Amino acid sequence: EVAVLRLGHRPGRDERMTTHVGLTARALGADRVLFPDNAGQSLETVSDITERFGGPFAVELTDAPKAVISGWPGLVVHLTMYGERVQDVEDDVKRVYRDGRPLLLVVGSEKVSFDVYEAADWNVAVTNQPHSEVAGLAVFLDRLFEGRELEREWRDADRRVVPTETGKRVEPADGGSESEE
Ligand code: SAM
Repeated sequence: EVAVLRLGHRPGRDERMTTHVGLTARALGADRVLFPDNAGQSLETVSDITERFGGPFAVELTDAPKAVISGWPGLVVHLTMYGERVQDVEDDVKRVYRDGRPLLLVVGSEKVSFDVYEAADWNVAVTNQPHSEVAGLAVFLDRLFEGRELEREWRDADRRVVPTETGKRVEPADGGSESEE
């Protein structure tokens, strides 16, 4: 299992970023995302997308994010610009994943407290430059799955996008008549 934990959520200001952490986790192959319990609106959006475009993917709220980290049964990767370079540690993380141990990927919003750095098995940087939790997560997942997540098939979808050179084609996922969105 690969789960993503979003640490911290400032209602209003972080709404889109928290939602995008969830959508990116889903689209790029994670099994589950956990949001802080004040991020109910982001949970609704991610659940709605999963209902329409398929899964399996779980989205949950937690009132104790740090307890999720301390109680995690597998290994914990905290994404941070201050960490070790992803290209230096990715083989070790992949080995753990291949061994079937659950991985928890932690991303922050505002300043992440030092106990998270200490609790993580790896603090991993996608470049040592400041950027975004969404970008860091996307690059990390693509490295972890070595691109295989791009071939993933979706179950229980209502609709499916048909890749086209120009325009937007969406069809019912059961292969029925096509429509434009
Ligand atoms: N300034 C905050 C701090 O010192 O903890 C981080 C703010 S940053 C906008 C929000 C999150 O993006 C971070 O907690 C981290 O998870 C992620 N992030 C930003 N840059 C990153 C990088 N270069 N590599 C990995 N993750 C990064």
